[in-house]
This record gives sequence, C-alpha cells and structure tokens, in this order.
Amino acid sequence: MGCRIVSFTGGEPLMYNGIGRLVRKCVNLRYFTGLVTNGLLFGRFLDEGWPGMLDMLVISFIDDEAAFSTSRGHVNAYRIVKKNIEDMVERGLSPVIQSALTDDTLVHAEKTAAFSQSLGIGIYFSFIVETPRKGYDTVNWDDQKISGIENAISHISTIKDTYKGVHFNPDIERLQVRGGFNKHVPCQAARTVVSLKPDGSVSLPCYVKTVHSISPGTALGPGWKSADAVSVREACGHLGCCRGCMNTCMYAPSLIGKPVLIFRWICNSKP
Ligand code: SF4
Repeated sequence: MGCRIVSFTGGEPLMYNGIGRLVRKCVNLRYFTGLVTNGLLFGRFLDEGWPGMLDMLVISFIDDEAAFSTSRGHVNAYRIVKKNIEDMVERGLSPVIQSALTDDTLVHAEKTAAFSQSLGIGIYFSFIVETPRKGYDTVNWDDQKISGIENAISHISTIKDTYKGVHFNPDIERLQVRGGFNKHVPCQAARTVVSLKPDGSVSLPCYVKTVHSISPGTALGPGWKSADAVSVREACGHLGCCRGCMNTCMYAPSLIGKPVLIFRWICNSKP
C-alpha cells in the first residue's frame, strides 16, 4: 500500500495490552513508528523494551496540577503523568510533550515549556479551537476554545524564542479559526491515511468519521480499491461530515502535493 508511517493513537492506545507486540512488529517492518498517549498507564510499560524502539513518543501534558487533573477527570493525573515523563527520561527515552491549550490553560504554557526544557525534551503547543470529539466528549469545549488567536500565537511564539525544544505551527491555528479545511487546504485524510479502528476495520474518510467501513475480514488492498471506498476518497473534504471540520491531526497528511505549505510546516515545526 506504500505506507511508511504507523501512528498508534486513540482513544488511548495503552489500554490495549498487546500494544508492545504491535510496536515491535511495526519497527521490525521498518515503519516510522509513533505512539500518542495520555501517559496515565505508561508506568506499567516503562521497563519493557519496546518504548525505546519508538521513533516518536508523544505524551499530553500541561504543567499545572489543577488544570491538568481536571482536564483528565482523574484527581491524580498530574502526579502520575509528570512522574511517568520524568521516569521515561531517566531511562533514556525521549518523549515529546504535546500541550493542547485552551483559554483556561494558555497561562500554563510557559511553565510547561520550562519543565520540558529542564528535562531536555521537546514540546509541541497547539490550541483547541474546535474538536471533532465534540459530539461525544463530556468536556464543554465551547467554553474553553482559544479566543484572541493572534495574541495567543504571539504569546506562544515568544515562549518558542525563549525556551529550547518548543515546536509551534501558527498556520494550523489560523486555519482552525478560519473554519478549518477549505479549498486552499482541502482535507486529504482519505487519500493519505489508512485509519485502522480497534476492531480491525478501516474507516473512510478518516478515523473520526465513518462513511464507509472496510470490514476486518476484508484484505486491505481490494477493500481500499472498491468502488465505495474510491468514491469516499474522491469526495474527501467535501462530504457532509467534513463541513467545518478542524481535525488538526489531518493537517500534515493533507499537505501532500503542496510544496509551499510543506516547506512552511517544516520551518514552523522546527524548535
Ligand atoms: S475534513 Fe474532517 S471529517 Fe472530513 S475527512 Fe477530513 S478529518 Fe475527516
């Protein structure tokens, strides 16, 4: 199929006990292999060899106890995740922190950057303007989305200039406030990403919306080339479910064929 990258994301990929076996398999098949986790369960895998095999290990974290534990709905989340990050670094792993900021948590960005710098690891900042999880999340995102986007961009840009290892891409944030994917940056999720669900099915157009599903019993190649799959791929970005979508995870995969935007993305993503 030509895939070169596997990213285990969720939900929460560490809920699956066989995750280590899958990571090893992907690394052995020479995929660039990444994992995105909330970090709560990482302690139980710390001494297994596979975390050190990952090409990219991303952990969601904000360095403020009340804000982080509240956002996770777990009273000890801050203490557990912070310790897991510190333990990872002590064992020679290089996790990258992902801080998705809201109006309420923007104020904690600098402290979080200082924490990542103190450990010598990288940090990605992004803003929550809208989320495809809105339909089934219990969090009221409308109350928390970033207002005053240019001020927020300027604040994080200053932090990026001050601390080491900070990654931030204002293009994605501006795309969000302008209403998400559009004719200049159309979503290409269904053309560039195979979205494999926990039950083994493949969702089209993407992992957040299923218009067509390739069932677990179907070989991926023929399923991917079926008439239904092709028609969803061709309509990707223009489907009813795509209207107003701001799934920022699909931003980079949607830049294929857009060299200027890829160049900007690479430049902006550099710490
Ligand atoms: S625009 Fe959103 S809903 Fe549509 S395919 Fe892309 S990520 Fe999925």
